[in-house]
Amino acid sequence: MIFVLGIDAATWTVIKPNLNQLPTFKRLTELGQAKEIILQEKPVSPSIWCGMFCGKTPDEHGHFDFVINNEIVKREDIKVDFIWDILEREGKQVRALNVPFIVPPYSFRVDFKPVGFGLPTNEKEWQEELERVSEKTKELLAQKPDLLIVVYTLLDRIQHFHWGEDCVLDWYRKLDEKVGEILFNTGFLDNRQNKLIIISDHGMCSFGEARVQTLPQKTEWGELKGDHHENAILITVNVDYPIERPQDVFWMVQEELEGRLTS
Ligand SMILES: [Zn+2]
Repeated sequence: MIFVLGIDAATWTVIKPNLNQLPTFKRLTELGQAKEIILQEKPVSPSIWCGMFCGKTPDEHGHFDFVINNEIVKREDIKVDFIWDILEREGKQVRALNVPFIVPPYSFRVDFKPVGFGLPTNEKEWQEELERVSEKTKELLAQKPDLLIVVYTLLDRIQHFHWGEDCVLDWYRKLDEKVGEILFNTGFLDNRQNKLIIISDHGMCSFGEARVQTLPQKTEWGELKGDHHENAILITVNVDYPIERPQDVFWMVQEELEGRLTS
C-alpha cells in the first residue's frame, strides 16, 4: 500500500528546530529520508496539489486558482486525469481525502464533508479538521486500499494568521500526535511493504519576505502574518523513487502500481 500524507504549508522552519517536541516527526526523520523540495513554480496551493496528483506542470494543467471570474473552479473544469482516475480504471483501489486543489477540498470514493468549506478559520474549526480527518484516515487505512491520499489544510490557515507566534508550534504538536496515531499505533509502518510519502505543497515565511505574494495582506479574516515560501517538506519511508518536484509523487505512484511503462 502507498500512503501519501499531505500537510498543507508544513515547513522545516518550524519542524527542524523543534524535533524534541515533535516525537512523530523525529521518529520519521530517523526511520525514513527527510528532504526538501524547492518549488520552481509559483507556490500556490491549488496549482501544486493539482500537479502533484496529475503529474503535469502548471503550464500543462492550467489550474492556478480556487476562483476564476467569481466562479468556484470545479473538478470538471480541470481537464486532466488524476492518479485516482487512472488507477481505478485499471482496477486498483484508491481513496483520496480532503485534497485542496479546489474548494471545498476534493475526496475520491470517500464520503467526507470538509470543515469550514476547506478554509477553516478559527481554533474550533482547526481542531475539528484535525480530529475528523484523522479519524477518517484511520478508517481508510483499515480498508487497505492500494493508494491512500490524505491532506490536512489547517497549518496553512494557522500560519497565515499566526506566523511567528507560539501557538503555531502548539498546532504542529497536536498534528504530530495525530500523525503518530495514524502511522505508528495502527501498525502501518510495521509492514515493510508499505510506502509512505509525507509532503507539503509549500512552506511559510513572514508576510513580505515571500518571493511571491499569494494573498492580500488584509483579508476578510484580518491581517495576515505569514505567506507561502517555495520550500516544501518531504519525508519518505520505503520509497526509492527520486522525488524532486511535486509532480514526482504522481510518477512514483504510477511506477509502483502500474509497473514500468514499456517504451
Ligand atoms: Zn497550501
